[in-house]
Amino acid sequence: MAGVRVAVVTGGNKGLGLAIVRALCKQFQGDVYLTARNPKLGEEAVKTLNNEGLSPLFHQLDITDLTGIRTLRDFIKEKYGGLDVLVNNAGIAFRAADTTPFGTQAEIILKTNFFATRDVCNELLPLIRPNGRVVNVSSIFSHTTLPKCSPELQERFRSDTITEDELVKLMEKFVEDAKNGVHQDNGWPTFAYGVSKIGVTVLSRIQARQLKETRKGEGIIVNSCCPGWVRTGMTGPEATKSPDEGAVTPVYLALLPTGVDSPYGELVSDKKVVIW
Ligand code: NAP
Repeated sequence: MAGVRVAVVTGGNKGLGLAIVRALCKQFQGDVYLTARNPKLGEEAVKTLNNEGLSPLFHQLDITDLTGIRTLRDFIKEKYGGLDVLVNNAGIAFRAADTTPFGTQAEIILKTNFFATRDVCNELLPLIRPNGRVVNVSSIFSHTTLPKCSPELQERFRSDTITEDELVKLMEKFVEDAKNGVHQDNGWPTFAYGVSKIGVTVLSRIQARQLKETRKGEGIIVNSCCPGWVRTGMTGPEATKSPDEGAVTPVYLALLPTGVDSPYGELVSDKKVVIW
């Protein structure tokens, strides 16, 4: 299948991920993989799109399972020889009313939203072909949570020299501090989801910088984005956008035409760059 273009979307069985797969099936020239951790839910989602006349393919992927990420990586490498579009959409949040202790919430949220997303990137980014597009679904909460961090943390998160190792250590420190009940003393906000999405936004900035150095001139573009406030299982019926409306910005970034050089390494919301 070398020569066939291919896109992968994580967490594609419902919500925003399903809408992103739907839009890519309509607009992307190539095969589109809907991935989901639960094969039954994934296959049902594929059937839903089949009934709309669309033909996504399915591959199982739990982003917290490194072996599973590598299985997908090997499958894509073997079948297609590379990857053209990666949309890291899978993510979790706790309901505001959830009484799970803050430290536990922090550990669970960061595990999926930051550490697992990073694992997917580390395994799949090397497969990205020239002119490939990587979209990490973050949130505007990364931007609104940043000023609630201590000045020292803000300085590191905004810095153009922060390394991936340093970011990982900071995210680990947040979880440790949250579990020990000292996160506020150490300059962290009391919003674990927001911190996890700071991690996703900063990781995307770092990846963009790294790609500029390691794969200069190949036209690969990485961005993070906020889909807006979208009616999904994570939010509820009061949110302002339908999933298809929420998919607009991620899909715009996934399909940035060849030859454009911006947005690059940015947080993008409603197709506009949010100044970090
Ligand atoms: P959702 O309806 O709850 O969907 C989340 C998706 O992620 C589901 O498919 C879920 O699978 C999947 N997922 C969770 N953990 C996973 C794992 N370990 N491996 C693979 N898939 C996993 O929420 P959503 O609103 O569509 O959220 C999608 C993304 O948008 C998230 O990253 C979220 O943070 C972000 N976002 C959403 C909003 C909003 O207003 N909705 C705003 C800003 C950002 P299961 O069905 O198996 O649980």
